[in-house]
Amino acid sequence: MSGRYIDLHTHSAVSDGTDEPAELVKKAARLGLAAVALTDHDSLAGLDEAGEAARALGIDFVRGVEIAVRDDFGELHLLGLWMPEPSARMREALATLRRQREERNQAMLDALRRNGMPLTMEEVRAVSKGEALGRPHIARSLVDKGYVASRKEAFDRYIGWSGSAFVPRALVSPKEGIELLRGEGATVALAHPFLSRLMTQERLDDLLSDFRAWGLSALEAYHNAHDARHVRVCTDMAARHKLLLTGGSDYHGDNKDGIALAVGRGNMRVPHWVLSALRDQRKRQGLWV
Ligand code: AMP
Ligand code: FE
Ligand code: FE
Ligand code: ZN
Repeated sequence: MSGRYIDLHTHSAVSDGTDEPAELVKKAARLGLAAVALTDHDSLAGLDEAGEAARALGIDFVRGVEIAVRDDFGELHLLGLWMPEPSARMREALATLRRQREERNQAMLDALRRNGMPLTMEEVRAVSKGEALGRPHIARSLVDKGYVASRKEAFDRYIGWSGSAFVPRALVSPKEGIELLRGEGATVALAHPFLSRLMTQERLDDLLSDFRAWGLSALEAYHNAHDARHVRVCTDMAARHKLLLTGGSDYHGDNKDGIALAVGRGNMRVPHWVLSALRDQRKRQGLWV
């Protein structure tokens, strides 16, 4: 692959990916990517290691994070790109998000126990050294314990949104999430809008009007869950709302089957001009790049 492609959405073992941050960056460099962002859930703990690896390898690196928010329809994900060293406010907010994750993980383990599948938090922690644990880790533990045959079965029967042990996570509103990231001087993007089957063009149109007013800068058009039509809809929608585009594979290493760094399910390519446009906007806004 030529150096003209980038990947601005990836997860390391700090959250629910499986590659260590430096290892992930090394893979991106080996694939010939011009740039990669690390966007772990609710944690900035991998960014320094990834940034150092990127410097050593000569690949462009963007410090990112992904947080979830909830509106009336359900969960939406935001990406913060160009995350600085966290302010006290951001450190506290991320710690709260991780605590809410832990409470929710415990509630799901309680539900699993009631379903006759006892599993301890220690057993779940044993599958990850990270600090933002979630359902992918519980799914892995359920397989390890022999309760299910596959991670897919774990989600389908128990911890997916229609599963018997599913517990929703306490989340902030979109406005709070956008303002939190924007307050750090990050570039805020709405991630994978069409990952949810419930998303429609009409709803997205409504959301973007509000989100842009609150500080959203970009829409993730390129993503492993987006087909060519989704990319086109996002591109049109971004133009209508004067938003920039972003994109990435949402690579999770071995925790998500069939999704590769740089290419997603095989056919995704994020062109380098996407990054240039985001950078140019930041420069115009007087923000660091
Ligand atoms: P959490 O952040 O703990 O709510 O877990 C969300 C993660 O679980 C997402 O990043 C997905 O990768 C994964 N996930 C959600 N639903 C499924 C599913 N049905 N099958 C496999 N992975 C899933
Ligand atoms: Fe994830
Ligand atoms: Fe996401
Ligand atoms: Zn993600």
